[in-house]
Amino acid sequence: MTEKSYHENEYAARFADVEENLKRIREGIARAAEKSGRRPEDITLLAATKTVPVEVINHAIHLGVRQIGENRVQELCEKFDRLDLEQCGCQFIGHLQTNKVRQLIGKVSMIQSVDSMKLAQEISRQCVQRGTSMDVLVEVNIGREENKSGVDPDGLRGLLEGISALPSLKVRGLMAIPPADASEAETMEFFSKMQQYFVDIGAQKIDNVGMDYLSMGMSADYEQAILAGANMVRVGSALFGARVYK
Ligand SMILES: *Cc1c(COP(=O)(O)O)cnc(C)c1O
Repeated sequence: MTEKSYHENEYAARFADVEENLKRIREGIARAAEKSGRRPEDITLLAATKTVPVEVINHAIHLGVRQIGENRVQELCEKFDRLDLEQCGCQFIGHLQTNKVRQLIGKVSMIQSVDSMKLAQEISRQCVQRGTSMDVLVEVNIGREENKSGVDPDGLRGLLEGISALPSLKVRGLMAIPPADASEAETMEFFSKMQQYFVDIGAQKIDNVGMDYLSMGMSADYEQAILAGANMVRVGSALFGARVYK
């Protein structure tokens, strides 16, 4: 077998899996949306694409995925030129260091992981320099875990007020990843708390702060997240299969 046909076969199997997985995920999203009084199209599915080859990501886009999210700046930059993004948005969902912000400007439509004033200031500064703007979500450390990304819930309001004054940056909502070791019931409580912040802040009408997206729920719990109020779910392994780290 030639190298090329080997890869074609390898991807053919993955393509079929992705198609089947996507169908099942869409059904799950529709079910949860309807149970929570919304329409399936009110929920954005973002495909979390870390470690996934470009060929497989492009196949998911071909099947109708309209938002993808990468976690690492370097991986995003390596893949970027080969991604078929004509009909698909690309977002950043991982932990972001200020010295890497510059590389994201012009590539991503939204950064979901803003959790400090320092990071927000750097995104704003880079956008002003480049004459562009950036949508962001503020990531909340909803489980108050040590050494975890996200602003502490007690600092959320202050951070939003600070960001509100920055040029070229617009807050579009909130993002959270509940503790990995939480029970299903605990996870549901974390999701519900996030939904409460989302509603309360939305009612407060802070300049430049809109609550359009509540991004929570991953492969294991996206239906529960939607039931609790999420309107964006970030799904990786349930769509693409278990991640293979090289
Ligand atoms: C990897 C990742 C996901 C998707 O995780 P799965 O459990 O594979 O669905 C979602 N959000 C973020 C921020 C991620 O890093």
